[in-house]
Amino acid sequence: MIRILNYINGTLSEPCSNKWLDNYNPATGAVFSKVPDSDEEDVAEAIQAAEKAFPQWAALGAEKRSEYLFAIAALIREHLEALAVDEVTDNGKTITQAREVDIPRAASNFEFFAKAITDPRVETYKTSDTINNEVQRQPLGVVAAISPWNLPLYLFTWKIAPALAAGNTVVAKPSEVTPLTAFRLAEICIQAKLPPGVLNIIHGSGSVTGNALIAHKKIKAITFTGSTAVGRHIASVAAPQLKKVSLELGGKNPATVFADCDFDKTVKELVRASFSNQGEICLCSSRLLVQDTIYERFKTAFVQQASAMNTGNPMLPETRVGAIVSQTHFNKICSYLQLAREEGGTVLCGGAPINAGGELENGWFIPPTVIEGLNNNCRTNREEIFGPVVSLIPFTTEAEAIALANDNEYGLSATIWTTDEEKAQRVAAQTDAGVIWINCWLIRDLRTPFGGMKNSGMGREGGEEALRFFTEPKNICTKQN
Ligand code: NAP
Ligand code: MG
Repeated sequence: MIRILNYINGTLSEPCSNKWLDNYNPATGAVFSKVPDSDEEDVAEAIQAAEKAFPQWAALGAEKRSEYLFAIAALIREHLEALAVDEVTDNGKTITQAREVDIPRAASNFEFFAKAITDPRVETYKTSDTINNEVQRQPLGVVAAISPWNLPLYLFTWKIAPALAAGNTVVAKPSEVTPLTAFRLAEICIQAKLPPGVLNIIHGSGSVTGNALIAHKKIKAITFTGSTAVGRHIASVAAPQLKKVSLELGGKNPATVFADCDFDKTVKELVRASFSNQGEICLCSSRLLVQDTIYERFKTAFVQQASAMNTGNPMLPETRVGAIVSQTHFNKICSYLQLAREEGGTVLCGGAPINAGGELENGWFIPPTVIEGLNNNCRTNREEIFGPVVSLIPFTTEAEAIALANDNEYGLSATIWTTDEEKAQRVAAQTDAGVIWINCWLIRDLRTPFGGMKNSGMGREGGEEALRFFTEPKNICTKQN
Protein backbone atom coordinates (compact mmCIF):
# COMPACT_ATOMS: atom_id res chain seq x y z
CA MET A 1 0.00 0.00 0.00
CA ILE A 2 1.57 3.30 -1.12
CA ARG A 3 1.38 6.00 1.52
CA ILE A 4 1.18 9.40 -0.13
CA LEU A 5 2.53 12.30 1.95
CA ASN A 6 2.15 16.06 1.98
CA TYR A 7 5.13 18.13 0.85
CA ILE A 8 5.47 21.09 3.19
CA ASN A 9 8.54 23.29 3.66
CA GLY A 10 10.70 20.92 1.66
CA THR A 11 9.86 17.75 3.57
CA LEU A 12 7.35 14.94 3.21
CA SER A 13 4.95 14.82 6.12
CA GLU A 14 1.86 13.07 7.44
CA PRO A 15 -1.34 15.05 7.99
CA CYS A 16 -1.58 16.65 11.48
CA SER A 17 -4.82 14.78 12.21
CA ASN A 18 -3.37 11.44 11.02
CA LYS A 19 -6.53 10.98 8.96
CA TRP A 20 -6.28 9.27 5.58
CA LEU A 21 -8.43 8.78 2.50
CA ASP A 22 -8.54 5.71 0.25
CA ASN A 23 -7.14 6.01 -3.25
CA TYR A 24 -8.40 3.56 -5.90
CA ASN A 25 -6.98 1.94 -8.99
CA PRO A 26 -9.87 2.36 -11.46
CA ALA A 27 -8.90 -0.70 -13.51
CA THR A 28 -9.30 -3.04 -10.52
CA GLY A 29 -11.65 -1.02 -8.33
CA ALA A 30 -9.28 -1.73 -5.42
CA VAL A 31 -7.65 0.64 -2.93
CA PHE A 32 -3.93 0.81 -3.66
CA SER A 33 -2.81 3.82 -1.68
CA LYS A 34 -3.66 6.09 1.22
CA VAL A 35 -3.84 9.87 0.85
CA PRO A 36 -3.60 12.48 3.61
CA ASP A 37 -6.98 13.92 4.54
CA SER A 38 -5.41 17.30 5.31
CA ASP A 39 -7.29 19.94 7.26
CA GLU A 40 -6.96 23.68 8.00
CA GLU A 41 -3.90 23.10 10.18
CA ASP A 42 -1.92 21.42 7.39
CA VAL A 43 -3.02 24.07 4.92
CA ALA A 44 -1.95 26.85 7.31
CA GLU A 45 1.47 25.22 7.74
CA ALA A 46 1.94 24.97 3.99
CA ILE A 47 0.93 28.59 3.48
CA GLN A 48 3.27 29.71 6.24
CA ALA A 49 6.17 27.84 4.61
CA ALA A 50 5.35 29.41 1.25
CA GLU A 51 5.16 32.86 2.80
CA LYS A 52 8.54 32.43 4.43
CA ALA A 53 10.13 31.21 1.18
CA PHE A 54 8.65 33.96 -0.98
CA PRO A 55 11.11 36.89 -0.56
CA GLN A 56 14.15 34.81 -1.42
CA TRP A 57 12.54 33.01 -4.32
CA ALA A 58 11.27 36.27 -5.80
CA ALA A 59 14.68 37.90 -5.36
CA LEU A 60 16.54 34.96 -6.86
CA GLY A 61 16.08 36.28 -10.39
CA ALA A 62 14.78 34.65 -13.53
CA GLU A 63 18.01 32.88 -14.51
CA LYS A 64 18.30 30.97 -11.24
CA ARG A 65 14.60 30.14 -11.05
CA SER A 66 14.79 28.90 -14.58
CA GLU A 67 17.64 26.52 -13.66
CA TYR A 68 15.51 24.92 -10.94
CA LEU A 69 12.58 24.49 -13.31
CA PHE A 70 14.78 22.92 -15.98
CA ALA A 71 16.18 20.55 -13.34
CA ILE A 72 12.65 19.47 -12.37
CA ALA A 73 11.76 18.93 -16.05
CA ALA A 74 14.88 16.83 -16.59
CA LEU A 75 13.96 14.61 -13.63
CA ILE A 76 10.41 14.18 -14.94
CA ARG A 77 11.86 13.02 -18.26
CA GLU A 78 14.29 10.72 -16.48
CA HIS A 79 11.44 9.09 -14.55
CA LEU A 80 8.97 9.16 -17.45
CA GLU A 81 8.21 5.45 -17.52
CA ALA A 82 7.63 5.12 -13.78
CA LEU A 83 5.48 8.25 -13.74
CA ALA A 84 3.43 6.94 -16.67
CA VAL A 85 2.77 3.67 -14.83
CA ASP A 86 1.78 5.63 -11.70
CA GLU A 87 -0.62 7.76 -13.72
CA VAL A 88 -2.26 4.66 -15.24
CA THR A 89 -2.58 2.99 -11.84
CA ASP A 90 -4.15 6.05 -10.29
CA ASN A 91 -6.33 7.35 -13.11
CA GLY A 92 -7.17 4.36 -15.33
CA LYS A 93 -5.94 6.10 -18.50
CA THR A 94 -4.04 4.09 -21.07
CA ILE A 95 -0.30 3.64 -20.81
CA THR A 96 0.06 5.07 -24.32
CA GLN A 97 -1.73 8.27 -23.34
CA ALA A 98 0.36 8.59 -20.16
CA ARG A 99 3.66 7.89 -21.93
CA GLU A 100 3.04 9.96 -25.01
CA VAL A 101 0.93 12.81 -23.72
CA ASP A 102 0.59 13.32 -19.98
CA ILE A 103 4.12 12.91 -18.69
CA PRO A 104 6.05 14.49 -21.59
CA ARG A 105 3.69 17.46 -21.36
CA ALA A 106 4.38 17.83 -17.63
CA ALA A 107 8.09 18.17 -18.44
CA SER A 108 7.34 20.59 -21.31
CA ASN A 109 5.30 22.78 -18.97
CA PHE A 110 8.36 23.38 -16.79
CA GLU A 111 10.68 23.77 -19.79
CA PHE A 112 8.37 26.21 -21.54
CA PHE A 113 8.07 28.62 -18.60
CA ALA A 114 11.71 28.17 -17.60
CA LYS A 115 12.62 29.45 -21.04
CA ALA A 116 9.91 32.13 -21.23
CA ILE A 117 11.13 34.00 -18.13
CA THR A 118 14.69 34.33 -19.38
CA ASP A 119 13.44 36.24 -22.40
CA PRO A 120 10.81 38.57 -20.92
CA ARG A 121 8.76 40.98 -22.96
CA VAL A 122 9.59 44.58 -22.09
CA GLU A 123 6.72 47.05 -22.23
CA THR A 124 7.55 50.77 -22.47
CA TYR A 125 5.62 53.89 -23.47
CA LYS A 126 7.41 57.09 -24.39
CA THR A 127 5.16 60.01 -23.41
CA SER A 128 7.50 62.76 -24.63
CA ASP A 129 11.20 63.31 -25.21
CA THR A 130 11.82 63.50 -21.49
CA ILE A 131 9.11 61.23 -20.10
CA ASN A 132 9.23 57.47 -20.30
CA ASN A 133 7.05 54.72 -18.81
CA GLU A 134 8.21 51.23 -18.10
CA VAL A 135 5.86 48.46 -17.02
CA GLN A 136 7.49 46.13 -14.56
CA ARG A 137 5.88 42.93 -13.35
CA GLN A 138 6.36 41.62 -9.85
CA PRO A 139 5.22 38.31 -8.41
CA LEU A 140 2.07 38.23 -6.28
CA GLY A 141 3.27 36.25 -3.26
CA VAL A 142 1.72 32.95 -2.21
CA VAL A 143 -0.67 31.52 -4.77
CA ALA A 144 -2.93 28.47 -4.74
CA ALA A 145 -3.22 25.92 -7.55
CA ILE A 146 -6.05 23.38 -7.65
CA SER A 147 -6.28 20.78 -10.40
CA PRO A 148 -8.64 17.99 -11.48
CA TRP A 149 -8.20 14.22 -11.96
CA ASN A 150 -8.38 13.85 -15.74
CA LEU A 151 -4.85 14.91 -16.69
CA PRO A 152 -3.29 14.75 -13.24
CA LEU A 153 0.39 15.68 -13.59
CA TYR A 154 -0.17 17.50 -16.90
CA LEU A 155 -2.61 20.05 -15.47
CA PHE A 156 -0.99 20.24 -12.03
CA THR A 157 2.31 21.34 -13.58
CA TRP A 158 0.57 23.58 -16.13
CA LYS A 159 -0.41 25.74 -13.13
CA ILE A 160 2.62 25.33 -10.91
CA ALA A 161 5.30 26.01 -13.56
CA PRO A 162 4.22 29.55 -14.56
CA ALA A 163 3.45 30.49 -10.95
CA LEU A 164 6.95 29.51 -9.82
CA ALA A 165 8.61 30.92 -12.94
CA ALA A 166 7.07 34.33 -12.26
CA GLY A 167 8.57 34.31 -8.76
CA ASN A 168 5.60 33.27 -6.64
CA THR A 169 5.61 30.52 -4.07
CA VAL A 170 2.86 27.95 -4.36
CA VAL A 171 0.55 25.77 -2.32
CA ALA A 172 -0.95 23.22 -4.70
CA LYS A 173 -3.68 20.64 -4.28
CA PRO A 174 -4.20 17.81 -6.76
CA SER A 175 -7.49 15.94 -6.90
CA GLU A 176 -7.83 13.42 -4.07
CA VAL A 177 -8.91 10.96 -6.79
CA THR A 178 -5.49 11.06 -8.53
CA PRO A 179 -2.84 12.29 -6.11
CA LEU A 180 0.02 9.88 -6.87
CA THR A 181 2.02 11.75 -9.50
CA ALA A 182 1.73 14.97 -7.48
CA PHE A 183 3.43 13.04 -4.66
CA ARG A 184 6.10 11.90 -7.13
CA LEU A 185 6.57 15.52 -8.17
CA ALA A 186 7.29 16.36 -4.52
CA GLU A 187 9.99 13.67 -4.47
CA ILE A 188 11.42 15.12 -7.68
CA CYS A 189 11.49 18.65 -6.20
CA ILE A 190 13.44 17.31 -3.24
CA GLN A 191 15.87 15.65 -5.65
CA ALA A 192 16.17 18.90 -7.61
CA LYS A 193 16.95 20.69 -4.30
CA LEU A 194 14.17 23.20 -4.81
CA PRO A 195 14.44 25.55 -1.79
CA PRO A 196 12.03 24.55 1.04
CA GLY A 197 8.62 26.19 0.95
CA VAL A 198 8.82 27.35 -2.69
CA LEU A 199 6.37 24.62 -3.71
CA ASN A 200 4.11 22.92 -1.18
CA ILE A 201 1.79 20.08 -2.17
CA ILE A 202 -1.10 19.34 0.07
CA HIS A 203 -3.45 16.40 -0.29
CA GLY A 204 -7.06 16.02 0.74
CA SER A 205 -10.64 16.53 -0.30
CA GLY A 206 -11.93 19.53 -2.17
CA SER A 207 -14.52 20.31 0.46
CA VAL A 208 -12.06 20.46 3.39
CA THR A 209 -8.49 20.93 2.12
CA GLY A 210 -9.50 22.83 -1.02
CA ASN A 211 -11.86 25.11 0.83
CA ALA A 212 -9.31 25.91 3.54
CA LEU A 213 -6.79 26.79 0.85
CA ILE A 214 -8.96 29.11 -1.23
CA ALA A 215 -10.35 30.90 1.85
CA HIS A 216 -6.97 31.59 3.50
CA LYS A 217 -6.28 35.32 3.64
CA LYS A 218 -2.59 34.96 2.70
CA ILE A 219 -3.43 33.46 -0.69
CA LYS A 220 -3.13 36.19 -3.33
CA ALA A 221 -4.43 34.31 -6.37
CA ILE A 222 -6.13 31.03 -7.21
CA THR A 223 -5.64 29.11 -10.39
CA PHE A 224 -8.28 26.41 -10.72
CA THR A 225 -9.18 23.79 -13.28
CA GLY A 226 -12.27 21.70 -12.66
CA SER A 227 -16.03 21.79 -12.79
CA THR A 228 -18.12 24.89 -13.36
CA ALA A 229 -19.94 24.37 -10.05
CA VAL A 230 -16.73 24.41 -7.99
CA GLY A 231 -15.35 27.25 -10.14
CA ARG A 232 -18.40 29.36 -9.23
CA HIS A 233 -17.91 28.57 -5.55
CA ILE A 234 -14.24 29.59 -5.72
CA ALA A 235 -15.16 32.84 -7.46
CA SER A 236 -17.67 33.60 -4.72
CA VAL A 237 -15.07 33.07 -1.98
CA ALA A 238 -12.34 34.98 -3.81
CA ALA A 239 -14.36 38.04 -4.87
CA PRO A 240 -14.88 39.69 -1.46
CA GLN A 241 -11.23 39.07 -0.61
CA LEU A 242 -10.19 40.66 -3.94
CA LYS A 243 -8.12 37.64 -4.90
CA LYS A 244 -7.22 37.08 -8.52
CA VAL A 245 -8.80 33.96 -10.00
CA SER A 246 -8.22 32.01 -13.18
CA LEU A 247 -10.94 29.45 -13.83
CA GLU A 248 -10.70 26.72 -16.46
CA LEU A 249 -14.02 24.88 -16.35
CA GLY A 250 -16.27 22.43 -18.17
CA GLY A 251 -17.27 22.07 -21.80
CA LYS A 252 -19.76 20.51 -24.20
CA ASN A 253 -17.69 20.88 -27.29
CA PRO A 254 -19.23 20.86 -30.77
CA ALA A 255 -17.52 19.35 -33.82
CA THR A 256 -19.01 20.73 -37.01
CA VAL A 257 -18.61 18.37 -39.95
CA PHE A 258 -19.41 19.80 -43.38
CA ALA A 259 -20.17 17.65 -46.43
CA ASP A 260 -17.02 18.92 -48.14
CA CYS A 261 -14.68 17.68 -45.39
CA ASP A 262 -11.77 15.35 -46.04
CA PHE A 263 -13.97 12.42 -45.07
CA ASP A 264 -11.57 9.66 -43.98
CA LYS A 265 -9.28 12.00 -42.08
CA THR A 266 -12.25 13.68 -40.37
CA VAL A 267 -13.75 10.40 -39.16
CA LYS A 268 -10.42 9.16 -37.86
CA GLU A 269 -9.56 12.40 -36.07
CA LEU A 270 -13.03 12.77 -34.59
CA VAL A 271 -12.93 9.26 -33.17
CA ARG A 272 -9.74 10.31 -31.41
CA ALA A 273 -11.22 13.67 -30.36
CA SER A 274 -14.27 11.93 -28.91
CA PHE A 275 -12.78 9.00 -27.01
CA SER A 276 -9.18 9.87 -26.10
CA ASN A 277 -8.56 9.50 -22.39
CA GLN A 278 -12.04 7.83 -22.10
CA GLY A 279 -13.57 11.13 -23.20
CA GLU A 280 -12.27 12.60 -19.96
CA ILE A 281 -10.58 15.63 -21.52
CA CYS A 282 -12.33 18.96 -21.20
CA LEU A 283 -11.56 19.48 -24.92
CA CYS A 284 -13.08 16.23 -26.19
CA SER A 285 -15.84 16.53 -28.76
CA SER A 286 -19.23 15.62 -27.40
CA ARG A 287 -21.77 17.02 -29.87
CA LEU A 288 -21.00 15.94 -33.43
CA LEU A 289 -22.93 18.21 -35.81
CA VAL A 290 -22.95 16.52 -39.19
CA GLN A 291 -24.29 17.95 -42.47
CA ASP A 292 -27.34 15.95 -43.52
CA THR A 293 -26.06 15.01 -46.99
CA ILE A 294 -23.23 12.93 -45.50
CA TYR A 295 -24.92 12.05 -42.19
CA GLU A 296 -25.60 8.34 -42.90
CA ARG A 297 -22.18 7.75 -44.44
CA PHE A 298 -20.45 9.53 -41.55
CA LYS A 299 -22.51 7.65 -38.96
CA THR A 300 -21.63 4.25 -40.44
CA ALA A 301 -17.90 4.97 -40.64
CA PHE A 302 -17.74 6.66 -37.23
CA VAL A 303 -19.63 3.91 -35.40
CA GLN A 304 -17.54 1.26 -37.10
CA GLN A 305 -14.28 2.86 -35.94
CA ALA A 306 -15.59 3.70 -32.46
CA SER A 307 -16.72 0.10 -31.89
CA ALA A 308 -13.35 -1.19 -33.05
CA MET A 309 -11.53 0.64 -30.21
CA ASN A 310 -10.09 -1.71 -27.63
CA THR A 311 -11.57 -1.03 -24.20
CA GLY A 312 -9.93 -2.70 -21.21
CA ASN A 313 -6.61 -3.17 -19.46
CA PRO A 314 -5.01 0.29 -19.51
CA MET A 315 -1.52 -1.15 -19.07
CA LEU A 316 -1.61 -2.86 -22.48
CA PRO A 317 -0.21 -0.79 -25.35
CA GLU A 318 -3.01 -1.88 -27.71
CA THR A 319 -5.76 -0.59 -25.40
CA ARG A 320 -7.32 2.63 -26.62
CA VAL A 321 -9.96 3.20 -23.94
CA GLY A 322 -8.97 2.54 -20.34
CA ALA A 323 -10.95 2.68 -17.08
CA ILE A 324 -13.23 5.47 -15.88
CA VAL A 325 -11.52 7.33 -13.06
CA SER A 326 -13.81 6.55 -10.10
CA GLN A 327 -16.94 4.75 -9.01
CA THR A 328 -18.67 8.12 -8.60
CA HIS A 329 -17.79 9.25 -12.09
CA PHE A 330 -18.64 5.83 -13.55
CA ASN A 331 -22.09 6.08 -11.92
CA LYS A 332 -22.52 9.58 -13.32
CA ILE A 333 -21.74 8.47 -16.88
CA CYS A 334 -24.04 5.44 -16.52
CA SER A 335 -26.84 7.74 -15.37
CA TYR A 336 -26.42 9.77 -18.58
CA LEU A 337 -26.61 6.58 -20.67
CA GLN A 338 -29.91 5.87 -18.98
CA LEU A 339 -31.07 9.47 -19.45
CA ALA A 340 -30.19 9.42 -23.17
CA ARG A 341 -32.50 6.41 -23.61
CA GLU A 342 -35.27 8.03 -21.55
CA GLU A 343 -34.99 11.16 -23.69
CA GLY A 344 -35.56 9.02 -26.80
CA GLY A 345 -32.01 8.57 -28.04
CA THR A 346 -30.85 5.51 -29.97
CA VAL A 347 -27.59 3.94 -28.84
CA LEU A 348 -25.59 3.00 -31.96
CA CYS A 349 -22.68 1.39 -30.10
CA GLY A 350 -21.49 0.99 -26.51
CA GLY A 351 -24.11 2.24 -24.11
CA ALA A 352 -23.40 -0.10 -21.20
CA PRO A 353 -20.44 -0.90 -18.94
CA ILE A 354 -18.30 -3.92 -19.76
CA ASN A 355 -16.66 -6.44 -17.48
CA ALA A 356 -12.98 -6.66 -18.34
CA GLY A 357 -12.73 -9.96 -16.43
CA GLY A 358 -9.96 -11.54 -14.35
CA GLU A 359 -8.20 -9.10 -12.04
CA LEU A 360 -10.11 -6.26 -13.70
CA GLU A 361 -13.59 -7.61 -13.08
CA ASN A 362 -14.36 -4.88 -10.55
CA GLY A 363 -12.88 -2.12 -12.69
CA TRP A 364 -14.93 0.70 -14.17
CA PHE A 365 -15.08 0.31 -17.95
CA ILE A 366 -17.42 1.94 -20.46
CA PRO A 367 -16.77 1.43 -24.20
CA PRO A 368 -17.10 4.20 -26.81
CA THR A 369 -20.76 5.13 -27.02
CA VAL A 370 -22.48 6.89 -29.91
CA ILE A 371 -26.04 8.17 -29.60
CA GLU A 372 -28.38 9.63 -32.25
CA GLY A 373 -31.91 10.87 -32.42
CA LEU A 374 -31.68 13.57 -29.77
CA ASN A 375 -32.07 17.26 -30.48
CA ASN A 376 -29.75 19.90 -29.10
CA ASN A 377 -32.17 20.90 -26.33
CA CYS A 378 -32.24 17.75 -24.26
CA ARG A 379 -30.10 17.29 -21.16
CA THR A 380 -27.91 14.65 -22.83
CA ASN A 381 -26.84 17.26 -25.35
CA ARG A 382 -26.66 20.20 -22.97
CA GLU A 383 -24.86 18.87 -19.87
CA GLU A 384 -21.24 17.81 -19.61
CA ILE A 385 -20.97 14.00 -19.41
CA PHE A 386 -17.15 13.86 -19.45
CA GLY A 387 -16.97 10.26 -20.57
CA PRO A 388 -16.71 8.18 -23.79
CA VAL A 389 -20.12 9.31 -25.00
CA VAL A 390 -20.98 11.41 -28.06
CA SER A 391 -24.18 12.43 -29.74
CA LEU A 392 -24.75 12.83 -33.50
CA ILE A 393 -26.91 15.77 -34.59
CA PRO A 394 -27.67 16.47 -38.26
CA PHE A 395 -27.82 19.99 -39.73
CA THR A 396 -28.61 21.40 -43.17
CA THR A 397 -27.17 24.90 -43.55
CA GLU A 398 -24.04 26.67 -42.35
CA ALA A 399 -26.14 29.12 -40.33
CA GLU A 400 -27.94 26.24 -38.61
CA ALA A 401 -24.60 24.61 -37.75
CA ILE A 402 -23.30 27.80 -36.16
CA ALA A 403 -26.51 28.27 -34.18
CA LEU A 404 -26.36 24.68 -32.90
CA ALA A 405 -22.68 24.98 -31.95
CA ASN A 406 -23.35 28.14 -29.95
CA ASP A 407 -26.60 26.99 -28.37
CA ASN A 408 -25.02 25.74 -25.17
CA GLU A 409 -24.01 27.31 -21.85
CA TYR A 410 -20.40 26.22 -22.39
CA GLY A 411 -17.83 27.68 -24.79
CA LEU A 412 -14.53 25.91 -24.26
CA SER A 413 -13.47 24.47 -27.60
CA ALA A 414 -14.89 23.67 -31.02
CA THR A 415 -13.67 21.88 -34.12
CA ILE A 416 -14.62 22.61 -37.74
CA TRP A 417 -14.16 20.11 -40.58
CA THR A 418 -14.23 21.35 -44.17
CA THR A 419 -11.90 21.75 -47.17
CA ASP A 420 -13.37 25.20 -47.86
CA GLU A 421 -10.90 27.50 -46.09
CA GLU A 422 -13.06 30.60 -46.34
CA LYS A 423 -16.02 28.79 -44.84
CA ALA A 424 -13.83 27.46 -42.04
CA GLN A 425 -12.69 30.98 -41.12
CA ARG A 426 -16.23 32.35 -41.39
CA VAL A 427 -17.60 29.67 -39.06
CA ALA A 428 -14.68 30.03 -36.64
CA ALA A 429 -15.29 33.77 -36.38
CA GLN A 430 -18.93 33.16 -35.39
CA THR A 431 -18.33 30.27 -32.97
CA ASP A 432 -18.24 31.19 -29.29
CA ALA A 433 -15.36 29.12 -27.96
CA GLY A 434 -11.98 29.99 -26.50
CA VAL A 435 -10.11 27.39 -28.56
CA ILE A 436 -11.05 26.49 -32.15
CA TRP A 437 -9.38 23.81 -34.24
CA ILE A 438 -9.92 23.63 -38.01
CA ASN A 439 -9.35 20.16 -39.49
CA CYS A 440 -7.39 19.07 -36.41
CA TRP A 441 -7.75 18.55 -32.68
CA LEU A 442 -5.63 19.10 -29.57
CA ILE A 443 -2.67 20.70 -31.27
CA ARG A 444 -1.30 22.95 -28.55
CA ASP A 445 1.30 25.66 -28.95
CA LEU A 446 2.05 26.63 -25.36
CA ARG A 447 2.47 30.29 -26.34
CA THR A 448 -1.23 30.63 -27.25
CA PRO A 449 -3.99 31.70 -24.83
CA PHE A 450 -5.98 28.78 -23.44
CA GLY A 451 -9.40 28.94 -21.79
CA GLY A 452 -13.12 29.11 -22.30
CA MET A 453 -15.99 31.51 -22.86
CA LYS A 454 -19.38 31.52 -21.11
CA ASN A 455 -19.63 28.85 -18.37
CA SER A 456 -16.32 27.33 -19.46
CA GLY A 457 -14.31 29.78 -17.47
CA MET A 458 -12.81 33.11 -16.72
CA GLY A 459 -9.34 34.24 -17.75
CA ARG A 460 -6.80 32.49 -19.93
CA GLU A 461 -3.78 30.34 -19.27
CA GLY A 462 -0.78 29.67 -21.49
CA GLY A 463 2.27 31.70 -22.48
CA GLU A 464 2.19 35.39 -21.74
CA GLU A 465 -1.37 35.17 -20.34
CA ALA A 466 -0.20 32.91 -17.51
CA LEU A 467 2.80 35.06 -16.67
CA ARG A 468 0.54 38.10 -16.60
CA PHE A 469 -1.92 36.36 -14.31
CA PHE A 470 0.80 35.46 -11.82
CA THR A 471 2.26 38.98 -11.65
CA GLU A 472 1.20 42.46 -10.66
CA PRO A 473 2.01 45.12 -13.24
CA LYS A 474 3.65 48.28 -11.96
CA ASN A 475 4.08 51.36 -14.14
CA ILE A 476 7.22 53.37 -13.48
CA CYS A 477 7.11 56.82 -15.02
CA THR A 478 10.44 58.69 -15.20
CA LYS A 479 10.95 62.33 -16.14
CA GLN A 480 14.46 63.29 -17.15
CA ASN A 481 15.63 66.62 -15.83
P1 NAP B 1 -14.01 19.28 -9.57
O1 NAP B 1 -14.87 18.36 -8.83
O2 NAP B 1 -14.45 20.67 -9.76
O3 NAP B 1 -12.60 19.25 -8.85
C1 NAP B 1 -11.47 19.96 -9.31
C2 NAP B 1 -10.54 20.22 -8.15
O4 NAP B 1 -11.16 21.08 -7.21
C3 NAP B 1 -10.16 18.95 -7.37
O5 NAP B 1 -8.83 19.07 -6.90
C4 NAP B 1 -11.15 19.01 -6.21
O6 NAP B 1 -10.71 18.26 -5.11
C5 NAP B 1 -11.17 20.49 -5.92
N1 NAP B 1 -12.33 20.97 -5.19
C6 NAP B 1 -13.57 20.42 -5.12
N2 NAP B 1 -14.36 21.18 -4.32
C7 NAP B 1 -13.61 22.22 -3.90
C8 NAP B 1 -13.86 23.35 -3.06
N3 NAP B 1 -15.05 23.55 -2.49
N4 NAP B 1 -12.87 24.22 -2.85
C9 NAP B 1 -11.67 24.04 -3.41
N5 NAP B 1 -11.36 23.00 -4.20
C10 NAP B 1 -12.33 22.10 -4.46
O7 NAP B 1 -13.68 18.73 -11.02
P2 NAP B 1 -13.24 17.26 -11.41
O8 NAP B 1 -14.43 16.40 -11.37
O9 NAP B 1 -12.02 16.89 -10.66
O10 NAP B 1 -12.77 17.50 -12.92
C11 NAP B 1 -13.61 17.40 -14.01
C12 NAP B 1 -14.02 18.79 -14.47
O11 NAP B 1 -12.87 19.54 -14.81
C13 NAP B 1 -14.85 18.75 -15.72
O12 NAP B 1 -15.92 19.65 -15.59
C14 NAP B 1 -13.90 19.22 -16.80
O13 NAP B 1 -14.48 19.81 -17.93
C15 NAP B 1 -13.07 20.20 -16.06
N6 NAP B 1 -11.80 20.42 -16.72
C16 NAP B 1 -11.60 21.63 -17.34
C17 NAP B 1 -10.41 21.87 -18.00
C18 NAP B 1 -10.14 23.19 -18.67
O14 NAP B 1 -8.99 23.46 -18.98
N7 NAP B 1 -11.14 24.02 -18.91
C19 NAP B 1 -9.42 20.88 -18.03
C20 NAP B 1 -9.68 19.67 -17.41
C21 NAP B 1 -10.87 19.45 -16.74
P3 NAP B 1 -11.16 16.72 -4.93
O15 NAP B 1 -11.14 16.08 -6.27
O16 NAP B 1 -10.10 16.21 -4.04
O17 NAP B 1 -12.50 16.78 -4.34
MG1 MG C 1 -7.00 6.99 -8.04
